[in-house]
Amino acid sequence: MKFGTKALHAGIEPDPATGAIMTPVYQTSTYVQEEPGVHKGYEYARTQNPTRDVLEKNLSALENARFGRCFASGMSATETVIKMLHPGDEVVSTGDLYGGSYRLFTQVFRKYGIKFLFVDMRDVSNVAAVMNDKTKLVWIETPTNPMLNIIDIDAVAEIAHKYGAKVAVDNTFASPYLQNPLDRGADIVMHAVTKYIAGHSDVIMGFLATNDQALDEWFGFIQNSSGAVPGPQDCFLALRGIKTLHLRMQRHCENGKQIAHYLKSHHKVSKVYWPGFEDHPNHETAKKQMRDFGGMISFVQKEDTLAKAKKTLSRFKLFSLAESLGGVESLVGHPAEMTHASIPKEKRMAGGLTDSLIRLSVGIEDVDDLIADLEQAIA
Ligand SMILES: *Cc1c(COP(=O)(O)O)cnc(C)c1O
Repeated sequence: MKFGTKALHAGIEPDPATGAIMTPVYQTSTYVQEEPGVHKGYEYARTQNPTRDVLEKNLSALENARFGRCFASGMSATETVIKMLHPGDEVVSTGDLYGGSYRLFTQVFRKYGIKFLFVDMRDVSNVAAVMNDKTKLVWIETPTNPMLNIIDIDAVAEIAHKYGAKVAVDNTFASPYLQNPLDRGADIVMHAVTKYIAGHSDVIMGFLATNDQALDEWFGFIQNSSGAVPGPQDCFLALRGIKTLHLRMQRHCENGKQIAHYLKSHHKVSKVYWPGFEDHPNHETAKKQMRDFGGMISFVQKEDTLAKAKKTLSRFKLFSLAESLGGVESLVGHPAEMTHASIPKEKRMAGGLTDSLIRLSVGIEDVDDLIADLEQAIA
């Protein structure tokens, strides 16, 4: 089955009780047993829920994965992966990382004696340089947020596996429509379902996929033991969102392409970050591992000051000023003060994330209206 067909049908059967075509919301905390231990496979809803089961099967199919588990948020999915580690273990991570992941790694898990090293993975030799026999996990985010750098998943996986380390990819920015990391040698895919997958800015949820049964057993063990599970109503909303994931992504990509080129030719814009440009430093890698280039774009104006950025941000009418991304409506964000405020300024600046960088999550509106909004905001 191809992607769009899987989005609609993989793991989804009419409800066995009634034939309902939409997966029911099993809003229940427990299940009645015939005799102690005699039940229909469902005992308690932290452990199993039929709405969640369907979503997990459907999402696994979209990532070409044998196994998948949903969590209450992207961060709780990430946390589940890091909880595999022991004091003294090392993690090599993308330097240009989602702010919340950076906070979780450095402010929560460092306390437990896990060491995190942040390297610029655009050059994979930087990964090789820090690998050692304590490295248990390599954490990749690609495209990165908000700089839209692209990391070569095959190349990093090859290095990591030589040291016996697992490779996890935060695939939130690409969505499974644009990129399937397990097909490129990754061991784990993580998603903030919150973003493109659910797609309608109405759900917080996370997901982990793998082909490795032992990893899946761990994810299931933590899902049940720590209990950061999504509720059935949220699972229903995510399933409903996924039915149009391929259509939405096509439009995000088309609109993104037009806006990236518009901004690049704008006389008041000095830099545009978007992996679809032929002169993007990692364009060839993007072409190799992604189906298209997505709707995330960052840019800097020639007047590269915080004051100018704030003025521009205050003028948007269609783009809403908000954290998050991947919803149907266009959003604009100011990473330095919003999503990436927890990353020290010197670290941010070193990666090009200046005080005036503006990030766009291009939605699925009519692109002419979006360009008109950018025109008046920048003017
Ligand atoms: C939003 C996001 C997360 C965290 O997901 P939540 O559902 O907000 O916990 C992780 N990684 C990336 C790249 C994200 O954009």
